[in-house]
Amino acid sequence: MSLTLSASLFASAWAAFLLGPLLVGRRRWAVRNPTLALHAWALLFVGGALGAGFGLVLVLRSAAEVTRELGSGRQLTACQTCHAAAVYGASWLMTAAVATAVCVAAYGWSGSVLHRRRIRRVTRGAAAGLPGQVVDGVRLSLLPSESYAAAGTPGRRSRVVVTTALLTLLDDDELRSVVAHESAHLRLGHRLLLGVAQLQGRCLAGFACAAEAQRSLALLAELAADDRAARRCGPTVTASALAKVAEASGDEAMRLRARRTSLAAA
Ligand SMILES: [Zn+2]
Repeated sequence: MSLTLSASLFASAWAAFLLGPLLVGRRRWAVRNPTLALHAWALLFVGGALGAGFGLVLVLRSAAEVTRELGSGRQLTACQTCHAAAVYGASWLMTAAVATAVCVAAYGWSGSVLHRRRIRRVTRGAAAGLPGQVVDGVRLSLLPSESYAAAGTPGRRSRVVVTTALLTLLDDDELRSVVAHESAHLRLGHRLLLGVAQLQGRCLAGFACAAEAQRSLALLAELAADDRAARRCGPTVTASALAKVAEASGDEAMRLRARRTSLAAA
């Protein structure tokens, strides 16, 4: 019974791991409901991880019981011998699958964590030294630059950094929507989510849907942040900010995001 249950849990876990990328990869409903799509993907990922872990625990417990029975010296029937072989086979296969996934994830995670920590330390230190102000309760720093860009620096002293070129391009309301957009990335944990998506992509390397899902999740994070900014500052203002930046930088993806946000205002 527990062998069947653990095998079912394990199969469901793999199905969830594959279903998540398929769910968010180039789907219209995901573009219409980016926050829901991101939550659904995260839920499938966490559910899959829990299912795989629980299935592994169950099969290892069955293997321990079989080992105890064999150690007792009792004569096993042919059926019990088959069951013991199946339990050992399943426990080896599941352990190997989980160990491989954990090793790949740990390798990728340690590399990206070190890389991100280094970037965070440099950007936070640089951002803290920039002149700034508080906009809607968010610390805003100005970076002298001719490119049109904005970014959030995470952590306890999180802040949003915008370039002087972007500040000149936008009016006050549009700037507030940019701050709301970057704050949404920080508050909704998009950095962590995209990091996990990257790990999933590594674990599912070879599956075309995994690479596509990674790109889709990055876009959905942008759309979810656009929606949050539109709710806070109004869709017209948010669409106008996106359109101005798209026009100035020639960013076609941002032009489409501006059109999507303006349609929500209509
Ligand atoms: Zn963004």
